[in-house]
Amino acid sequence: MRFSKTKKRYVKPEEETFHDSSESGEIEKADGGRTERRMFALGVRKSTALVKIRPRFSKPGLWLDIGSWEGPDLNASLMHALGKAGFYSAAFVLQRVLADALDLDPQEIEVASMVRRKIHENENPVWVGEIVLADRLANGSGFVRELSENFSDFSDLCLGKAPRNSALKSPFAEYLLSEAHAQSCMTACPRCLQTYFNSVFHGLLDWRLGVMTLRAIVDKHYVCGLDMNFDYPEFRGQAKVVEKAAQLLITAAREQLQWLFKPEEDCPVALLRSQDVLVGVAPGIWTRDAHEYYPPMQRFIEEHNPDDLPVCWVDVFNTLRQTTWVLKVLNV
Ligand SMILES: [Zn+2]
Repeated sequence: MRFSKTKKRYVKPEEETFHDSSESGEIEKADGGRTERRMFALGVRKSTALVKIRPRFSKPGLWLDIGSWEGPDLNASLMHALGKAGFYSAAFVLQRVLADALDLDPQEIEVASMVRRKIHENENPVWVGEIVLADRLANGSGFVRELSENFSDFSDLCLGKAPRNSALKSPFAEYLLSEAHAQSCMTACPRCLQTYFNSVFHGLLDWRLGVMTLRAIVDKHYVCGLDMNFDYPEFRGQAKVVEKAAQLLITAAREQLQWLFKPEEDCPVALLRSQDVLVGVAPGIWTRDAHEYYPPMQRFIEEHNPDDLPVCWVDVFNTLRQTTWVLKVLNV
């Protein structure tokens, strides 16, 4: 994590892959019979404080990148959506908890940007997502500085752990991670992450994905259930969400997929089979081959895969929202 006070540019650099129609567009210019098309963006500059949060390392089997949706690769496009959903949801969890703990209006803290960064592990380049939070007021108001200086306390609150500073409380975080909320909220609701001011992001928000992504960033031992340890608040109520996603796949595939394993509260994954592939519906930010890196998950798959079919994991986020695209990737 890096803290800096710098000039924040609202002009989006060319390499960023998302475009807000209110700020960017295309312009065509006729030149001697040739038409040239150029991208443009409008923006203003503001000096304020910002904090950048990104993983310091990658984890095999976990998707901590936001990827790129450019090009015809449908699978890359789905993984891009999953990464963006995880990082944006994590950003809004942090924004709401920080505002709650400091007794602020959440609008004081802006989710300013989400970018892709290259980090190096053993000299090999690895891409990860990066959350950028900023003070809304010009010249900074000290709120993201507070987050930067006491990051572990605020992240502990977000993850349901007791912070070192016991005076710091967040009723919002307690409700977010509670059994009552987990049982009533499938992905996001107005009582957790959805507000009027972030309505443009509602399609991406999922409180479980946000908490999983944040925990994966700060806890180097956390592997999002791939070690068969689902004893975290973000997995509460997840079994019925996974079951709904799997049922959508079965219906869309017109009975070409059959149940192998129905999700249970202490093991919220679904296994389905077609003639040629075993489809796993993952409860979190798993890659397509996630089980290969973790012996407990490998053993679980072997138990339910007597025909030794190739295994492919799909995520709940895309399966609930883009079921037919997920089926296309699976080629079922
Ligand atoms: Zn909710």
